Amino acid sequence: MFATEFEYKKAGSVSEAIQLLNSESDAKLMAGGHSLLPLMKLRLARPGTIIDIGGIDEMRGISVENDILRIGALTTHAEIAESHLVKDASGVLWETAYGIGDPQVRNRGTIGGNVAHADPASDLPTVLTLMDAKFTIQGRGGIVSRGSRTVPADEFFTGAFSTALEPGEILTSIEMPVLSANQKSEYAKMAHPATSFAVVGAGVVVTLDGNMCTAARVAVGGLTPKPTRSPAAEQALVGKELNAENIAAATARVDGDLGSDIIGDVFASAEYRRAMAAIELKHAVFHATGLAHH
Ligand SMILES: Cc1cc2nc3c(=O)[nH]c(=O)nc-3n(C[C@H](O)[C@H](O)[C@H](O)COP(=O)(O)OP(=O)(O)OC[C@H]3O[C@@H](n4cnc5c(N)ncnc54)[C@H](O)[C@@H]3O)c2cc1C
Repeated sequence: MFATEFEYKKAGSVSEAIQLLNSESDAKLMAGGHSLLPLMKLRLARPGTIIDIGGIDEMRGISVENDILRIGALTTHAEIAESHLVKDASGVLWETAYGIGDPQVRNRGTIGGNVAHADPASDLPTVLTLMDAKFTIQGRGGIVSRGSRTVPADEFFTGAFSTALEPGEILTSIEMPVLSANQKSEYAKMAHPATSFAVVGAGVVVTLDGNMCTAARVAVGGLTPKPTRSPAAEQALVGKELNAENIAAATARVDGDLGSDIIGDVFASAEYRRAMAAIELKHAVFHATGLAHH
């Protein structure tokens, strides 16, 4: 099916994009177009105007400064997967980017488009929640000169396909702390065989003193409308030696934090997804600690 008719405008800067977004009626931003265009072809989205932000250079790029990794919203998954800066700063994000979709999706899809779309099956919302990322947003109230606001990941994702972005706003970059040498991280997913989207995905960052876990962060996604942190699993990992028995006991605790709003569909029932959360989390911790290779 073809999309309904729309106006096409190309923005050359963030301020031009904000101005266009707020002056055109029924306008939508387009980054890589990999989520927006399929929705338009299915006529689930019918924007009057498309504002192509793909050529805005100030929204691209990867840098590390003062132990903060900063990624421009228009940076593609392929650029993240090829970046040594990301590999060194956040191994979990680097590996996750490589596991997104296929080469076409990774070459066009952007980190900003991925999180702004907030598909529960996307990998990046879960991994950026895990990494305690912060999202920089411009265009408050539709006014360019109001500067930017910063929203933490656990407030940015508000539900399935829903974020803290207000009408007229644009996400310009994402920042997260660089992982230190004694922090190990991993994301494991049960991937949909056709698309690689996460049926269930689970991520972990553990801080280690020898083999003892001194701090832990856990996030799961794919099965809940927005990424879910698991304080129960985190607390059960901390203070423990990370051997197979302790990991299995701690990761089973994730179930208690999932709530009752679990996604089920023709591919996997809610009960199945629920059962897989602890298993994917166990995989993630086993890989993070190197136990998976023994
Ligand atoms: C076949 C296929 C397989 C995929 N597999 C995976 C997978 O395994 N894992 C995964 O995580 N993802 C997957 N994806 C999603 C993909 O990773 C893209 O990131 C995602 O489609 C959106 O990125 P985009 O740049 O194309 O955004 P677009 O489609 O251009 O935009 C998506 C939405 O975000 C808004 N938007 C875009 N950029 C901004 C911005 N900077 N500020 C505010 N709003 C913005 C747009 O207005 C639109 O509403 C897959 C997609 C396809 C088509």
